[in-house]
Amino acid sequence: MKIHVLASGSKGNATIIEGSGGSLLIDCGLSYKSFKARCVDVGFDPKDLVAVVLTHEHNDHVGGLGVCMRGLAREGLNLPVYATEPTLHGARVFSETGVATQLEAAPLNTVVKCAGMEVVGFKTSHNAAQPQGFRIACDGVVVGYLTDSGFMTSEAAELLRDCDILALESNHDLRMLRTGSYPAYLKEHIASDKGHLSNAQVNEALVPLISNCLKAVIGMHLSQENNQPALVRDAFAATLAKQGHPARVYAASQFMALTVEAGVS
Ligand SMILES: [Zn+2]
Ligand SMILES: [Zn+2]
Repeated sequence: MKIHVLASGSKGNATIIEGSGGSLLIDCGLSYKSFKARCVDVGFDPKDLVAVVLTHEHNDHVGGLGVCMRGLAREGLNLPVYATEPTLHGARVFSETGVATQLEAAPLNTVVKCAGMEVVGFKTSHNAAQPQGFRIACDGVVVGYLTDSGFMTSEAAELLRDCDILALESNHDLRMLRTGSYPAYLKEHIASDKGHLSNAQVNEALVPLISNCLKAVIGMHLSQENNQPALVRDAFAATLAKQGHPARVYAASQFMALTVEAGVS
């Protein structure tokens, strides 16, 4: 099992969970051209995809859904798209070219089984219709996936326990956000309960999630204005070091794909 973060950030998100029986795409905020190019970069064949799940309907997460689904359909691949009903409604509206595929409503906390994977969606806190994060079990490995949340909800904290890989939003350094160039209303929104997790917030939330299972922590959805990859990696490393935990740390990028395997350092 591998996780390929093809892109992560406010200009487009797409992550693949590659399993032995098929693979899952989380969010589709890239153009078809970029999606295919990033798949080549990580050595992933899109024909191995069996389904798509969506966190929420914002453009950086669904803006490429229509073009990518139609592009894959032209190559003979028709993928079901799973999300909460309000997210699917939003995705239809916001995915500028429409979605030529099967949309499946999956209420929160239900288990979606596909390609030998079990996917459970949990509630996040964000200015979207009904956003969610995921706990994904695949090939004996459990991945926790949480982006675009103003805080770690109790549902997330519950379902992100005992994961092998945690992909967690580490959006901004609060000091950089406060002193940066964004307008006041935007600063306020990003730091709010319906905005994005800061480095400090996600590190505080990580502490109770550290277990013997944990192999890797990936910082996700980094702000280009208000964060730096080294800050994200250093903060996770310091949190893990306090508990003497050897998990690896990564910062996902908007510009370059990242592959992480549970068992490989
Ligand atoms: Zn986003
Ligand atoms: Zn969002």
